[in-house]
Amino acid sequence: MQALKKLLFLSLCILLPFALAAPAEAARQQPVHTLNYFQSYATKDAWRVEIGVNASDVKYEIRQKTLLRKEIVIDFDDTVRGELKQHIAQKSDVVKDIRIDETPDHHTELHIALQPDFGEVEVRVTAIDADRRAHLPFRLAFDIYPKPAEPEAPSVDGVKGHTIVLDAGHGGSDTGAVGPSGVTEASVTLAVTQDLQRILEASGARTAMTRDTDVDVYGPNATDGQELQARVDVGERTSGAEVFLSIHCNAFSNANANGMETYYCAGSSRAARLATLLNEELSRAGGRRNRGVKTANFYVMRHSSMPASLVELAFVTNPAEEALLSDPDYQQQLAMALAIGLSRYFTER
Ligand SMILES: [Zn+2]
Repeated sequence: MQALKKLLFLSLCILLPFALAAPAEAARQQPVHTLNYFQSYATKDAWRVEIGVNASDVKYEIRQKTLLRKEIVIDFDDTVRGELKQHIAQKSDVVKDIRIDETPDHHTELHIALQPDFGEVEVRVTAIDADRRAHLPFRLAFDIYPKPAEPEAPSVDGVKGHTIVLDAGHGGSDTGAVGPSGVTEASVTLAVTQDLQRILEASGARTAMTRDTDVDVYGPNATDGQELQARVDVGERTSGAEVFLSIHCNAFSNANANGMETYYCAGSSRAARLATLLNEELSRAGGRRNRGVKTANFYVMRHSSMPASLVELAFVTNPAEEALLSDPDYQQQLAMALAIGLSRYFTER
């Protein structure tokens, strides 16, 4: 027994070093590339950092850090720093300095520190072939440039300083009408209303939204009266509110029904003018059959103390109009038309 144990111990002593050596051997077999070139300079729109490496298939990952100090980290797999300097000062409006760190597991990290007061940046990478005559190795060029500004929301004149209540019809437990391919009225009315809000806010108007997400305004399981009154209440609570605009899509059992129409409550000449101007602009921009300006006793119009109009943008139950209504460009077009209609309401006599 003792002899057997001794034998086992001995064989372990012989086998163990091989077993331990195996993973290390595998790691050593990974090709380790060497960074062999560094250059940085300004191009017409970026600060360019060129890194040369003796393998064009080198893998890397780009990370942006914004917490303690704003920097971009480019992490090269299976590489060593080679002869490159560890610290490289930069004369740039974008980049403050660059540090090149090497980790024990053969990662080389380029820490590109950004100037603290510089805004958000993006990185573009270009591979550049080796140029033997110029003694230049294969390089990766990292262009660091200011993130392009978001396009400004379009705006209209004449609404500045005015307060407008926007009511995206339906939402939450109530999808409203549903088109043949599944587009819901509630999603279209929300998208158009949000586009309209952006335009109006960019134009200096104040807006109040009865909802700005997919929710019931009163809450689920409310009666129609409770839900619609909750929308009216948003307008009544908004100080200085001048106009209540409710946005809907039409629906009918016959899929051929089509076109746009606008509504107001009989008896208010200001509401009639509002519905007429919205109708003219929707007709011009939307290009759908104009079913006219109509009177109705819709709850949100009847119970609002300010001039109110309800617009039916098109029929979500008509396949062609359903496709248009779900198209973001068309939604934006309709929102612009409504903004122009509101602008005319405030400026024209
Ligand atoms: Zn509706």
